[in-house]
Amino acid sequence: MALRMSTLFLRTLREDPADAELPGHKLLVRAGYVRRVAPGVYTWLPLGMKVLGKVEAIVREEMERIGSQEVKFPALLPREPYDATGRWSEYGDLLFRLQDRKGADMLLGPTHEEMFCLTVKDLYSSYKDLPLALFQIQNKYRDEARPRAGILRGREFIMKDSYSFDVNEAGLQKAYDAHREAYIRIFDRFGFEYVIVKADSGAMGGSASEEFLAVSPHGEDTFVRDDSGYAANVEAIEVPQAPEVEVTAGPAHVEPTPDTPTIETLVAALNKDHPRADGREWTAADSLKNVIVMLVHPDGTREPLAIGLPGDREVDAKRLEVKVAPAEVEAFEEKDFASYPMLAKGYIGPGVLGESKSSHIKYLLDPSVAVGSAWVTGADEHGHHVIDLVHGRDFTADGTIQAAEIREGDASPTGHGTLKLARGIEMGHIFQLGTKYAEALGLKVLDENGKLVTVTMGSYGVGVTRAVGAIAEDNLDDIGLIWPRNIAPADIHVVATGKDEEVFVKAEEIVRSLEATGIEVLFDDRRKVSPGVKFKDAELIGVPTILVVGRGLADGKVELKDRRSGERREVPVDDIVAEVT
Ligand code: ATP
Ligand code: MG
Ligand code: MG
Ligand code: MG
Repeated sequence: MALRMSTLFLRTLREDPADAELPGHKLLVRAGYVRRVAPGVYTWLPLGMKVLGKVEAIVREEMERIGSQEVKFPALLPREPYDATGRWSEYGDLLFRLQDRKGADMLLGPTHEEMFCLTVKDLYSSYKDLPLALFQIQNKYRDEARPRAGILRGREFIMKDSYSFDVNEAGLQKAYDAHREAYIRIFDRFGFEYVIVKADSGAMGGSASEEFLAVSPHGEDTFVRDDSGYAANVEAIEVPQAPEVEVTAGPAHVEPTPDTPTIETLVAALNKDHPRADGREWTAADSLKNVIVMLVHPDGTREPLAIGLPGDREVDAKRLEVKVAPAEVEAFEEKDFASYPMLAKGYIGPGVLGESKSSHIKYLLDPSVAVGSAWVTGADEHGHHVIDLVHGRDFTADGTIQAAEIREGDASPTGHGTLKLARGIEMGHIFQLGTKYAEALGLKVLDENGKLVTVTMGSYGVGVTRAVGAIAEDNLDDIGLIWPRNIAPADIHVVATGKDEEVFVKAEEIVRSLEATGIEVLFDDRRKVSPGVKFKDAELIGVPTILVVGRGLADGKVELKDRRSGERREVPVDDIVAEVT
């Protein structure tokens, strides 16, 4: 049945809502899709329900295509399962907690690993029951610190969450791959540009994890990519962790002579004055991946610099040019770096030598340096990786390393060119959870040999309400929304104009014949509203095709308008069904 503007529960607004920052959010409110109730809490109006239904249908179809079965869990949950996995406390302020009349602790579910796990435990006991994949499309509750951009980050929102259950790793991998493929189909159908990035597994635990990010300047996530197809959320890139450090003894001075081969000088100086705690000798190859060199400027000020030793020479030579005072730069042509004349004028500071276990980065930090910057350059197994660290920002005087920042133009960890940075909205997230939840909650089944084995799980989420927001942000212009046809609240917006009863009768007829072919119609059948207002509303609401039935009818013509291109053309009334199907 056509949605009729004369009776539709809708008031379009001329003014932007005061609390909206993003254009899509403003338009969703102005065009009457959603209405704010409290920060991050929204009501869905009839037009919004239509769009939400389209998005849900796509998600449901693709989940069912891979054999996942739909269920629905309550949002109101008991505390105990979340205690068993530790998440009652781990979630901190994000969790909405409440008590029932008897004083029992309850929560509003932020995600449902525990509940799915327990229900499968309840009903299944044998490997023969597996594999199993279940999903739900359901309200989630998270007391987000910064609810944002309307439905993009809600405190109540709809998520499609699914869970896979397998007896072994191979099964989990298969389920994960199937979900990945389903997600590719879902996000292709949503029509926005997206990337699949390596993700931090965060509070979920578990190993392999990827996110689907809609590429958008409005995104809260930052990701990097290089030319080889590698892409990662910056959260997932390993940066130097707080190191296990060996503090070496007092400063070593290198006596400057211009022709001293300085790597050897440095190694010798370190072996003499900074013996390693483990008694082994320093060598250029293994332990001197980086040193901090105090550059002494002509005015006596000292600037800490890092010089990469063999292999990193070029990179650091370039970086040095940027940092050294102009007078000094001239003296240090890149070719000169082959012999590190720097060191001859420099000073090797007392250092803290650290080695990051996660990224194979070795570095020497000077904890006494109060200002300035240093670079930590290190190599992964492939010999690539460069990270800049700036003193005060990334590490402090006690040698504690804070998160290093990854910047545009940094070398890619794959070795394929440099990293490009962009922003994205997290639309979906897939995890190989492994046995973490099954172990905590005792989900085991009997295997072929009659032995109890712990079930291995995957969990997979799509932000359904967030998807509506992201699609809106990606499909709009100055005057309104422009939905892709498969998401739009209707396929066509029929606008009857003027006062001529004849026009309205004919428009009704057209609507009926369109509907007979399965086309969904939004029909502006309002009698006392001016054409100008009707056109404005149609542009705001954003149905992709607008059909104007008006004066042209006398010549047997109606006007078809493409909302996106603005292109309009006259079409004979009798051809209209053929034109829009
Ligand atoms: P974010 O990093 O944006 O906070 P998340 O990593 O906490 O998201 P997950 O726990 O991975 O989210 O949940 C799965 C999906 O649910 C996310 O990929 C996202 O699309 C959606 N989602 C998460 N939080 C919200 C929210 N507050 N409002 C709307 N959708 C959300
Ligand atoms: Mg979150
Ligand atoms: Mg996230
Ligand atoms: Mg996530």
